[in-house]
Order: sequence, then C-alpha cells, then structure tokens
Amino acid sequence: MAENEVVSKNFIEQIIEKDLAEGHVDHITTRFPPEPNGYLHIGHAKSILLNYGLAKKYNGKFNLRFDDTNPTKEKTEFVESIKADVEWLGADWEDRLFFASDYFDLMYEGAIKLIKKGKAYVCDLSADEIREYRGTLTEPGKDSPYRNRSVEENLKLFEEMKDGKYADGEKVLRAKIDMASPNINMRDPIIYRVARMTHHNTGDKWCIYPMYDFAHPIEDAIEGVTHSICTLEFEDHRPLYDWVVTELEYPMPPKQIEFAKLYLTNVITGKRYIKKLVEDGIVDGWDDPRLVSISALRRRGFTPESIKMFVELCGVSKANSSVDYAMLEYCIREDLKLKKSRVMAILDPIKLVIDNYPEGQVEYMEADNNQENEELGKRMIPFSRELYIEREDFMEEPPKKYFRLFPGNEVRLMNGYFVKCESFEKDENGNVTVVHCTYDPETRSGSGFTGRKVKGTIHWVSAAEAVKAEVRLYENIVDEEKGVYNEDGSLNLNPNSLTVLKECYIEPSVKDAKAYDSFQFVRNGFFCVDSKDSTEDNLVFNRIVSLKSSFKIEK
Ligand code: ATP
Ligand code: MG
Repeated sequence: MAENEVVSKNFIEQIIEKDLAEGHVDHITTRFPPEPNGYLHIGHAKSILLNYGLAKKYNGKFNLRFDDTNPTKEKTEFVESIKADVEWLGADWEDRLFFASDYFDLMYEGAIKLIKKGKAYVCDLSADEIREYRGTLTEPGKDSPYRNRSVEENLKLFEEMKDGKYADGEKVLRAKIDMASPNINMRDPIIYRVARMTHHNTGDKWCIYPMYDFAHPIEDAIEGVTHSICTLEFEDHRPLYDWVVTELEYPMPPKQIEFAKLYLTNVITGKRYIKKLVEDGIVDGWDDPRLVSISALRRRGFTPESIKMFVELCGVSKANSSVDYAMLEYCIREDLKLKKSRVMAILDPIKLVIDNYPEGQVEYMEADNNQENEELGKRMIPFSRELYIEREDFMEEPPKKYFRLFPGNEVRLMNGYFVKCESFEKDENGNVTVVHCTYDPETRSGSGFTGRKVKGTIHWVSAAEAVKAEVRLYENIVDEEKGVYNEDGSLNLNPNSLTVLKECYIEPSVKDAKAYDSFQFVRNGFFCVDSKDSTEDNLVFNRIVSLKSSFKIEK
C-alpha cells in the first residue's frame, strides 16, 4: 500500500479495514439515525455523508433510520424534510428506510429478557431520589431498595407498567449493572419509563417508552448495523451500549465509534435556537438562506457537491474544533466556478447614456458564457444607447488609483466598447442620476482594436432589454468576534444579515431562469433563483457567496 494512502485514511476507515481483514465482519452496514424533531443542518450532512461514504467505499449498506422513540417532539413534517435532505445529498438508503418505533415490541421483549436474566428491575424511587442515589463523579452511588426484587415480581410489575397501571414517573425499569461504577452511565441506568404520550407512528399503543441508551443499540443490532457511528458525547455511553448488546446476546454485536461534531463559525446549528428564530419570525422559516439547515443551504444555492467537498476537507477527527465558515464558501465557489455562466447584473443601478450612439439602435455583442470553460458556449448580449452601470463605478471626484468612470476618463464596457465620461446629472439631493458618455466605434470588443489601452473595465446592461429583479444579499446571522450570545443568553443577531435590493437589472439571458438555477454575476458573486419567492414576473435571486475571499487551502 502506498504511504500516502495510509495517511489519508481516517481512523474509522482503519477500524473498518481491520474488522474486515480479521473477519469480524464480512460486509459493513452503517446508518444515519436522525431524531425527527427538527430540520437537518450542516453537521448532520457530515454524519450522512460519512456513513453513506463508508458504506459505498466498502461495498456495504447504508440505512436511514428515524430514531423516533421519544414521542414528545416528533412530527411528520420533520420526517419528510429529513428524507428530502438525505436524498438531495445523494445518500441512497435504497429499500432500507426504518423507524425505531417499529421495534417497540422487540425492545419490550429485550427488557423481559434482561429481567429474566436478573439484569433489570422495576424501581419505585422518584426521579429526585434516583438522582440522589446515583452518587457523583467522586462518590459511588447507593443501591436502590428495590434492586433485589425477584424476577417474578419484576416481570409482574413491568407488565403492569405496560398495561397502564402506574402514573407517569411512578415506576421505571432499570438495568442492574453497578452502582459503584466509575462511569455514572453504568449506575443502574433507567431503560424504560412510564409516559402517556401519543406517538406519531404507534399512536396510543404504548404508555411505556424505552430510553435512548437502551433503544439505540437494539435498533442497530436488529438492522445488522456493524459500525454505529455517533458523536463524541456518546463516548461515555459506549460501555452501556456494549452491555446491552452483550446481555441481549445478539450474534453480531454492532460496534459504536465516536467522532467529533462539526462546528462552524458564525452560524447557528442548535435546533433550539433555530426553532426560536423561526417561531419569532426573525427568519423566514427553517429554510431561510441565512441558516445552515440543509434546506436553507439548498435554497441559498449550495450544491450537494460543494457540501461533500466541504465535509471531506473537514476530515474526521476525535477532537472538537470549529471550522471557518469561509471554508464552506470556498467549496461552493470552487464547485460553481467552471459550471456556471458569468452574466452581467447591476445591483445598484445608475443610468449611463452614450450621447453619440444612435437612438433606437440595438447591437448584439458576443460573449463567452464562461471564459475558463469553453464548453458552456457563447451568448449574445444587447447593447444600446441607454445602459445601467453600478453606482460605485462612477465617481465625481475619484481618489487616486480609481480607474473606473469619472469626468474625462475612458473605460472599457465589458464585451462592448470604450466609453469616455463627458458629464453627469444630479437630482436635488445631490445624487448622481445619469452619467453621459461618448463611445468610440473603433473599439468594439472582439474587433482586435489595439489603438490605446484603458485601465478600467466595468460591466453594464442595456436598459430597455434588461430583466428587472430582486436580489437578496446575506451576511452571517451572528458574528463570533462580536459574541454570539448576549448577557441574557439570547442571540446577538447581526442586524445587516439581510439586504434586499428591489431594483436590480440583469441581462436578458436570465429571463427564463427557474428555482435553484444559479449564475455568476460578474464582479458580484454567485446567485441562485429563490425557490420560495421567485416568480416569472418577479425574479428573486439569493447571493450564495461573493467572489472575494481571504480563505486559502494550503496545497
Ligand atoms: P442537534 O444537537 O443539532 O439537535 P442531534 O444530535 O440532536 O443534533 P440527531 O437527530 O440526534 O440530532 O442526530 C442524528 C445524527 O447526526 C447523530 O448520529 C448525530 O451524532 C449526528 N450529528 C448531529 N449533529 C452533528 C454535528 N454537528 N456533526 C456531526 N454529526 C452530527
Ligand atoms: Mg439528538
């Protein structure tokens, strides 16, 4: 094996290869196990692509399993959005879509098995008492007075729990492990509780529900998952995971492997906070383009390829760290750079009138769709006497090194002619409204003109033919440097996170653009047609990312 190949493998791949080589498993199965209590975000994308990528790489299987054992917060809306997001990322679960709640019967049987083995007991302590008895990190716990109930009594009481004889919280089923274990998770953890809640899948069939640490290993084992990949906070739960699969005597016990969560600077990933922003109407739903839910990234114009590239660049590690948001931007720029047409769009327009250009005349100028990728072909752009240019491309009194338009200066109109600024008009408030120029017919783009050079090139659109559109510009919704949270724990939101430009003009080649179509607007960035608000008569574009970046990948 080549040396660099070894280096590039992440530690999970190494574990899998060892398990395959030593014959512990003959194929692998991974899973993505979301709890349907919100929309997925960029961190989940990492988990999805990691699990799916491993299954693909080792010719194994990938399951999508809804971890819906906790009925309080789960909603069908979330199930649907999660399926759509996983699919969009390209992770194919084929016919293996599962719901943990379909295993409630098997989990119940598992609990009975533990009771019969003397490995679980019904406990009557209250929640507070259980906490007291549990001990601390430095002190061992105390045995519950109910710990030594007989198997028969436990079987009877557990059945009565299931039959609804006890109030919520009155009794629990606990694993009988070790109240003195240095690992608090092993101090007789609760594995079943009484809770009268209607479940989105099983309705009112159950009034007892399994706890996560008991349910999850069973779900994995039932599905034949070989490598159960989760995030670091479950590391201390692994002994309990192993205990459950061992005591239930599954022939092929799954193996839990932990990796560090993905954290991204200047964004909000916590479901709790996103939910609050949505509920308070501060953002426009779970897919507001300022969020990093997968649906928001999709709406903003990110591609599955860019997210995949990002996740790969992040790598898989055991140490928590935060990744710079600029790296995500780098990935989408890289992905779109050669794939998208580069069109001219004016976001902050002022009129430019070419006084010596014939009134009513329209010329069509040829332009490459993408100068770096010939395959995208060419298009024709109308040119006429009245154009729009960016307000910032004209200055009445230019500073040094300003090479764009100012009285007396000549610039190149991209794909057009040289124009020279002759005069300008202002309104009563002193704002420039029209820039007057003359053009030199000799300087037409593509004519091979070499007579003289100009230092500035600016973009433009023909006023009569341009498509009027709305453009939305985004900044990060929070700023790590200014502090993400206020003193009262609320979010310190960036008031400039959204700028809406209602009167933008774009060259007519975009006029049939549909939801999710994206373009480079020269000098301004990459933009994507908004899937929620854009209509045929009122195109709305989201800026995905600007063109400039300080972010560099060391190669
Ligand atoms: P959140 O804390 O953001 O609400 P969660 O962990 O509660 O997320 P789940 O639906 O339980 O969300 O997670 C499904 C899977 O995604 C789990 O395997 C979990 O470990 C993984 N996951 C969640 N957040 C991240 C993250 N930031 N980076 C990588 N994987 C993650
Ligand atoms: Mg969770």
